[in-house]
Amino acid sequence: MLRRSASVELKDAASPMQGTLAAGPPAVVLSGVHKRYWNGSEQVKVLDGVDLYARPGKFTSLVGPSGAGKSTLLQLIAGLETVTAGTISIGNVVVTALDEAARARLRLANIGFVFQTFQLIPTLTALENAVLPLLLTGVARKPAAAAGQSLLGELGLTTRLDHLPEQLSVGEKQRVCMARAMVAGPSLLLADEPTANLDGPATDDVMRLLHKAARSRGMTVVMASHDARAAAYADEVFMLRGGMVTGVRGADPA
Ligand code: ADP
Repeated sequence: MLRRSASVELKDAASPMQGTLAAGPPAVVLSGVHKRYWNGSEQVKVLDGVDLYARPGKFTSLVGPSGAGKSTLLQLIAGLETVTAGTISIGNVVVTALDEAARARLRLANIGFVFQTFQLIPTLTALENAVLPLLLTGVARKPAAAAGQSLLGELGLTTRLDHLPEQLSVGEKQRVCMARAMVAGPSLLLADEPTANLDGPATDDVMRLLHKAARSRGMTVVMASHDARAAAYADEVFMLRGGMVTGVRGADPA
């Protein structure tokens, strides 16, 4: 399939460099993760010894009040930020042992990211936004468009391919973001408050699609959310408060 061949191309381009993930959905393992920031001379403790295991091919949700450290945790997993102490691994790759360039390669080849604020390019259509990761990594326009059309179709956006972001509802915008995050066939999808700007029905929509994507595409999904309605779709929920995991529970998949 196109999605797979794009993924293989990306992985081939990245190898044999350090940090190449083995095939299949990875587990995400955090062990004793601490994160501190400095605000001038004041130290801000954001994460204070987080241990967490997100199962391969499952949908894991991090829930907790605003300021609990959920976004920071996702940024650390994605290698966009670095830990103060502790280790993070994605499958066979120890992210915390990689330099910045290797983390960037790992992200490009293996990680999709869905943002709360969409971050779509306003002058590009839904299809153009969705296929951007493929074009940026050298996939030709035609196969990229075919992959984008197929994925946007799966997400119920066949009639919206040529719409600009401003012509889409918020739920549709988020689905374009999901397509962009998945189009290169990542094995790990990170979603940061993907339903924060959505109403109840659109939240259910996006959550059902995320859940289905994890199953059908063999992806591991880790989502941060303060929204209990969204978290109810996860296979497992980690509760975060004050920079620590305060509880874990399995949730009933919808
Ligand atoms: P959540 O996603 O659960 O709302 P965040 O991870 O965004 O939490 O933030 C956790 C805490 O870390 C907050 O108190 C926030 O102000 C602080 N924080 C996040 N990023 C920075 C930074 N770059 N510098 C200083 N403090 C930060």
